[in-house]
Amino acid sequence: MVNCERLPPSIPTGEFADRRRKLAARFRRLKIDAFLVTALPNIRYLCGFTGSNGALLVLPGDAVFFTDPRYTTQSAQECDCPAQTVEGSTLGGVAREIASRNIPRIGFERNRISFLAHDFLRGKLPATLNLIPVEGEVEKLRMVKSQAEIALIRASVQLNSEAYERALARFKPTMRECDLALEIDLQMRRLGAEGTAFETIVAAGERAALPHARPTHQKIGANRLLLVDMGASLDGYASDMTRTAAVGKPSQPDRDVYHAVLEAQRAAVAAVKPGIRVHEVDRAARSVLDRHGLGSFFVHSTGHGLGLEIHEPPRLGQKEKPVLEEGMAITIEPGVYRPGQVGVRIEDTVLVTARGCEVLTPTSKELRLL
Ligand code: ZN
Ligand code: ZN
Repeated sequence: MVNCERLPPSIPTGEFADRRRKLAARFRRLKIDAFLVTALPNIRYLCGFTGSNGALLVLPGDAVFFTDPRYTTQSAQECDCPAQTVEGSTLGGVAREIASRNIPRIGFERNRISFLAHDFLRGKLPATLNLIPVEGEVEKLRMVKSQAEIALIRASVQLNSEAYERALARFKPTMRECDLALEIDLQMRRLGAEGTAFETIVAAGERAALPHARPTHQKIGANRLLLVDMGASLDGYASDMTRTAAVGKPSQPDRDVYHAVLEAQRAAVAAVKPGIRVHEVDRAARSVLDRHGLGSFFVHSTGHGLGLEIHEPPRLGQKEKPVLEEGMAITIEPGVYRPGQVGVRIEDTVLVTARGCEVLTPTSKELRLL
């Protein structure tokens, strides 16, 4: 059994400043003098703040964090850079700082700021200062994980798998989907997760043909497949696992679909290595399902990056070009969804290593009979 009852590893001091240095090194190419970070996961990544409101202004060799009075004490404890508490609008404080420093070109996260916030900021800044839209820069840095981040993802994955075991130990076919989902969430919290990384999916029989099914009040029942997709959040870091188990005796066609998906999942895992394009990993899974005549029922991409968010770049889709690098944490999760009949998905969290990959998820992928 995995021991999840110890404190999770933490990010060493100094790592945040390193990350900001890497970001600032991109300023010249982006034609900016400072970068305003408004996405909370990116803020957490760059200065350690874990609260729900803030903005981070990154300058070459400097950074200032802004928040509201609820977070004065917390930001002083968590941030490794100076933190300012702003009365009223947080962005108002940011605008005053930018104007006082007379920064000519400020990059902002175009895909991570509301229209309203952008307009507000523009209205508060002198017309001579330029707001430059930038997209995905911090996310790009976040794709390759540090040793400390890998340790956290590993711990999150182990906790998640342990919660699955503990919940299944209490499983009965008379349970409703929502009862099992609650049991899973409870076990995660008991094991030290601060919560789930996303809403737990429990879907039995033909309901599993909905790739993102919500747990219902229907009884799970017998002689069918049971899909569970779950992830924990541990010290901010996500895990993600799907297992499809069999309650009682599933039909032979259901078993055949299971084994085809398992073969596809293993083929995609075998393809993961540094230097490969993500669409090639997707192809490895898809070609197995095509061969089984099931390709048209695989309606999503093969996987995604994960870390401080459950879905991060790179997306392992059919047309995606990014190249895998050592230190990336991704999921491999092909699935087959036959509407009204059956759904199977098998998902592991996988770490790209120097030579290939390491499947972090310890849970067996053999068809489990409940
Ligand atoms: Zn998942
Ligand atoms: Zn996933």
